[in-house]
Amino acid sequence: MNIRQAVSPPKAGPLRGKEMSSLEIKHDVNIAIEEGKISYIGREYVEAYQYIDGSQLVVMPGFVDCHTHIPFVGSRSSEFIMRLSGKSYMDIMRAGGGIISTVKEVRKASATSILADSLSSLDSMLSLGVTTVEGKSGYGLDKENELKQLKVLRALDSIHPVDVVPTFLGAHAVTDEYGSPEEFLDLMAGIFDDLVELTDTIDIFCENGVFDEALSRQYLMKAQKKGFKVKLHADELSSSGGGRLAVELGAVSADHLISADNETLVLLAESETVATLLPGTSFFLNEPFAKGRKLIDLGAIVAIASDFNPGSCNIFNPFFIIFLAVSRCGLSVEEAINAYTANSAKALCLEKEKGMLEVGYDADMVLIRAEDYSEIVYNFSRDLVEGVIKNGNRVR
Ligand SMILES: [Zn+2]
Repeated sequence: MNIRQAVSPPKAGPLRGKEMSSLEIKHDVNIAIEEGKISYIGREYVEAYQYIDGSQLVVMPGFVDCHTHIPFVGSRSSEFIMRLSGKSYMDIMRAGGGIISTVKEVRKASATSILADSLSSLDSMLSLGVTTVEGKSGYGLDKENELKQLKVLRALDSIHPVDVVPTFLGAHAVTDEYGSPEEFLDLMAGIFDDLVELTDTIDIFCENGVFDEALSRQYLMKAQKKGFKVKLHADELSSSGGGRLAVELGAVSADHLISADNETLVLLAESETVATLLPGTSFFLNEPFAKGRKLIDLGAIVAIASDFNPGSCNIFNPFFIIFLAVSRCGLSVEEAINAYTANSAKALCLEKEKGMLEVGYDADMVLIRAEDYSEIVYNFSRDLVEGVIKNGNRVR
């Protein structure tokens, strides 16, 4: 009650282009919660059995992290150190590092131990105000272990307060045990019928030398025929057609886009596909950043997310990711907040229940000790979170 600043996207996602620069800011308001949903926002006094003094707080919708690679096990810190000392990707692979090392660990691990590791990540994310998290398979790369990861994601969603949205990323990488990318994708497409109870979304790592544009198109069209939504890891390492393909197929999102060419940015901006930026990965790998400013100026629906994973981005702190989006991708603070709430909810097709402070929306909120919302960027390295409310319950 008596909230200093209640800050929300002005409308449900998608927000595109200029719309992204506005926020709805209310001063000295009360927010009431009933049965896990926001039931009132305004100046009237509301009867309740519990009150939180909001006079020193900025209240925002909980962050929606629409791209992570939980669940996984194992650390790849030695690989990180190797990279810093100048070792190449191939050197790291030869030393047993890279994505394959996580695949080995995940295959060896029981579902219970993967679950335990992921629970602790979710605890940390929740304490930073992240109330919804997408996670993917993709470290199994065979039927048994891909399904194991998806079942872990289902279990995480049911036992942890954070809402966990599962995606199938069987098409993440090819291991030596398979003859060719074509053969491997056939095998993964053979799992589609087993996924129906576990996820409704299929993702692919579309990249020259991994799964190129033509292979990705074939695979994702098979997924769409089965009724799945699709999304892509697109134009990350090279301009390889992923962003273009996302638009062509009507994908829910195209993620990364570091290397997307001008024509792709224009196509994305004219489409309904969410352009998801993952600036933590660029920072972690010391690589260029996606052209966020340009995408928004062209009119795109831009979301931001963490890409939290053990290899290329060991970062899940939304304040730091927002700092990077603002300082490196050229977003304004307002655009970054909209990108991490309403638009990231849109990327997960949850825009009607998440990403806004609005009556009827899920009561997922982060309570921040600040005079003004803009401080979250300047003070990103301080622990500004006073509390987190998830489905109406105070969880921090
Ligand atoms: Zn990713």
